[in-house]
Parts: sequence; C-alpha cells; structure tokens
Amino acid sequence: KIEIEGNEITAGAGGKLKEIVYAARAANLGGMEWMEGIPGSVGGGLRMNAGAMGAQTLENVLRVRYLDPEGNAHTKQRDELEVHYRHVPLLEKNFAVSATFRAEPTAREEIDSRLEQSQEKRRTTQPIAKSAGCIFKNTASCPAGKLVDELGLKDLSVGAARVSDVHGNFIVNDGGATAADMLELIDKIKTTAREKRGIELETEVQIVGEDA
Ligand SMILES: Cc1cc2nc3c(=O)[nH]c(=O)nc-3n(C[C@H](O)[C@H](O)[C@H](O)COP(=O)(O)OP(=O)(O)OC[C@H]3O[C@@H](n4cnc5c(N)ncnc54)[C@H](O)[C@@H]3O)c2cc1C
Repeated sequence: KIEIEGNEITAGAGGKLKEIVYAARAANLGGMEWMEGIPGSVGGGLRMNAGAMGAQTLENVLRVRYLDPEGNAHTKQRDELEVHYRHVPLLEKNFAVSATFRAEPTAREEIDSRLEQSQEKRRTTQPIAKSAGCIFKNTASCPAGKLVDELGLKDLSVGAARVSDVHGNFIVNDGGATAADMLELIDKIKTTAREKRGIELETEVQIVGEDA
C-alpha cells in the first residue's frame, strides 16, 4: 500500500521500489527515479540501503516503522538510523513494516527524462542475461566492476556461471549454473584481486543456504 501526503510517500515493506517511483510520478513528485530499475521491495531496499546512479535508499527516507523480534512496533527518524553502504544494521534483527520517503514536486517531463536516463544507463552498461545484480561491493579505491575488468576476468567461467562481458561486477547464468559454480567463481575473483592488487573484495549479495 502506498500513500501520498504532500511531498511524503509512505509505502509498506512489501511494495516494490518501482511502484513507489510510478506512484510519485502520478503525483508529480520526483527524486526517486533512480530506484526504478532495482528489482526489489521497500523492505529489502531499506535493509540493503539499495542504491543506483549515485543515490541510496536511505537518502530519500524520512522515517522507518519496524517491529522488533518480540513484535513491538517502533518508529525511527532518518537521523536516528545508523546507515552504511548497502547495510542498515537496525534491520538485521528487526523487520521493516513501512517507510516514509521524501520527494520533491517535479514536472512530469523532468521525471520522465530522468527515468529515461536511468533506464538507458542500465540498458547500455548492464547485462540483460540472468544475474543476481552486482556481486561485490565497490571498494574505496576502485569500483568492483572496473577492478574485475582490469584483472582480465571478464568472461571467466565456472560451469555455467560466467563473469559478464558487459559489466565485470555481474555474474551471469548461461543456463543451469549451480550455487557451487557461483561460489567457486566468486572465490576465484576474490583470490585474484587479493593476489594481484592486495584488495579484499566483499560480496554485496548475501550468501545463504547450501552450496549445491
Ligand atoms: C538484475 C539486478 C539488478 C540489481 N540492481 C541493483 C542496484 O542497482 N542497486 C542495488 O542496490 N541492488 C541491486 N540489485 C540487488 C537487489 O535488487 C536489491 O538489493 C534489493 O534491494 C533487494 O530487495 P528484495 O526485496 O529482493 O530483498 P531480498 O533480496 O529478499 O532481501 C534482501 C535482504 O533484506 C532483508 N529484508 C527483506 N525484507 C525485509 C524487511 N521487511 N525488514 C528487514 N529486512 C528485510 C532480507 O532478509 C535480506 O537480508 C539488483 C539485483 C538484480 C537481480
């Protein structure tokens, strides 16, 4: 459920980021366009502090409503939250219920132009093949995709898991790749980055479940 009041948009944790962008657009509210291409929900976006095009989810957030593990409801304002790159510690153990985002009154044409730019950037710089999105966090010294490219690892594969030739931070599934293939490929990239550049790559994706 998405509610708009003035410049504030409140969305339930299960809402899609894309739906917020288009609900905002319908009310001539902008500033959220960068979220449009992130395939995920409000809850996942908050927990991961998902970001794109130089912006991050928590920059647009005014407050978050959440439940603690005992089921008690709380609200925190943005400035009460500890926020990191792709990580909001509060939501490791607590469950986001909804968030209120701040948007800016913006002409529809301007919103559409920003949406087009964002879509064009994804279309031209990211693979359309099946993937989990960016695998590694960018490092302080270098974007992870650029590093993988510089290490000559584009197209490196394990089984049907392959480093995209379009963007080095994406591993694409050429058909039937297993979790074990993905994990071995991730490990090879990490080892090469460590040995050749002394850089410890950290995964942006969370690895859960079993290897097979
Ligand atoms: C093709 C592709 C492109 C992508 N592009 C981007 C990108 O540009 N930028 C980016 O940041 N990410 C990107 N991603 C990664 C992913 O879409 C984001 O991390 C997204 O925010 C995940 O949302 P989700 O709803 O799928 O969450 P999930 O993947 O289901 O969950 C992510 C984490 O959030 C937790 N979580 C989910 N809901 C809640 C809740 N209500 N309360 C507390 N914790 C919760 C989960 O337990 C898990 O730890 C991309 C992925 C793909 C496949």
